[in-house]
Amino acid sequence: MSDKLTLTDAEWRARLTPEQYHILREQGTERAFTGEYEGNKAAGQYVCAGCGAPLFSSETKYNSGSGWPSYYAPMEDEAVVELTDTAHGMVRTEVRCAACEGHLGHVFPDGPKPTGLRYCINSASLAFKPEE
Ligand code: FE
Repeated sequence: MSDKLTLTDAEWRARLTPEQYHILREQGTERAFTGEYEGNKAAGQYVCAGCGAPLFSSETKYNSGSGWPSYYAPMEDEAVVELTDTAHGMVRTEVRCAACEGHLGHVFPDGPKPTGLRYCINSASLAFKPEE
């Protein structure tokens, strides 16, 4: 996915719901256990709610107990970018959509095999496309 999507702030506000805007464009976080996809076990793809880029597959989704959709890997390494986030007195690794730079969540080193990673992602940053 090499297509980049760059919009003005006004265009993002028009395209996204207020919750999506807050999370994707202002690095917000939805409350645990409130998101649409935390418990979703259906087969399919999770695409970026901002730009539609494919980000995560149901095949790497697992129940982390954290209250947010959790995956042990992105669909393609190039689909996401990872940045150091020092907000809120913590050092964390932020995960963004590589195509639109929308904030997705964070990645932590306490995930399951085979990667040992936990991509902890806001439901509001995603749209689910069920397998056909
Ligand atoms: Fe995106």
